[in-house]
Amino acid sequence: MHSKVLFLLALSLLLCDSVTVAKGPPVKVTITEDNVNIRSGPGMHYNIIEKAMIGNQFSFLRATNEWTSIDLPSGKTGWISNKFIAMPETKKTKEKGKSIIRTVVPAVHIRSKPLNGRILGTIHKGEEYEVIAVRKHWIKLKGNGHRGWAPQWFFEGGTPRINHETWRTSTLNRRRILIDPGHGGKDQGTSGQLGFVEKNLTLQTSRLLYEKLVLSGAEVSLTRYSDYFLPLSERTKKAAKEKADAFISIHYDSSNGSSASGTASYYYYKNQKGLAEKLGDKVPQATGAASRGIKEGNYHVIREYTETAALVELGFLDNPFEEKQIITQQYQHKAVNGIYDGLAGYFDSNAE
Ligand SMILES: [Zn+2]
Repeated sequence: MHSKVLFLLALSLLLCDSVTVAKGPPVKVTITEDNVNIRSGPGMHYNIIEKAMIGNQFSFLRATNEWTSIDLPSGKTGWISNKFIAMPETKKTKEKGKSIIRTVVPAVHIRSKPLNGRILGTIHKGEEYEVIAVRKHWIKLKGNGHRGWAPQWFFEGGTPRINHETWRTSTLNRRRILIDPGHGGKDQGTSGQLGFVEKNLTLQTSRLLYEKLVLSGAEVSLTRYSDYFLPLSERTKKAAKEKADAFISIHYDSSNGSSASGTASYYYYKNQKGLAEKLGDKVPQATGAASRGIKEGNYHVIREYTETAALVELGFLDNPFEEKQIITQQYQHKAVNGIYDGLAGYFDSNAE
């Protein structure tokens, strides 16, 4: 009896991902761009009540020609323009013809399984791959001698692009770097007056950093690849499991209305200070933001991972002037360049 129930449960979970379900479990819609406005009603004149990121999924309630209403985790109902929504895939990709896909970024790792799978190789822009499976925010690809999993957000519209300067390959090559997008899911972090929330911005920054580091030959992972709650202990466990050569936790700051501004980097142990110093140098240099310095901080992620680690605060989201900058692609790229230079500088001066 039990196994039958389990089987049906497993089957329905499998089907949810790729098939439109008429009855039964709620239909999920997927957001196709970053920082999409969720409004209180079906029109541009309604208030923005939240922001959504690419890959976020919501239960579908109903739709007009231009707007779709969704169930928010807070229990509220929100409205999103249909331009930014994908309905669940129908069966067409499975029945006939192959679903061919290309990455929109210069390089992505392909892994043995989603999330923390072994890195099998790197796939590049322009190469064509066949999609053979989809699971949550990951797709399984086949082609060009590769077969494995990659994050879906590198294959859809709306993924931020970066300028490609000369990549440094020497010291970052083969370094295991774990990026931790702060907060996630029910833990929103801080938020700004324009409605941007920290958990989404940290994810956006982390994705850009991932992309840049992959190109330099580093072996990069994220603690979370999409918007879900991940306890702090899980983040440090992952760093220990992966024996990260550097573990960087990405955050945006808040000052409870005291209008503070600028970036800061934190360490907890002496052996972490070197990395915090490089980041504390390079991030303000790259962003042009004020430097709040290199500080000792008793944060879980740097206290519980005792190897090379740092926590960076990339600007004050509750400072309206900084919020306007932080949310731009330019600022995100600059911040990523600063972190990248800090990491490269750190490994340059600590090369074995
Ligand atoms: Zn934070």
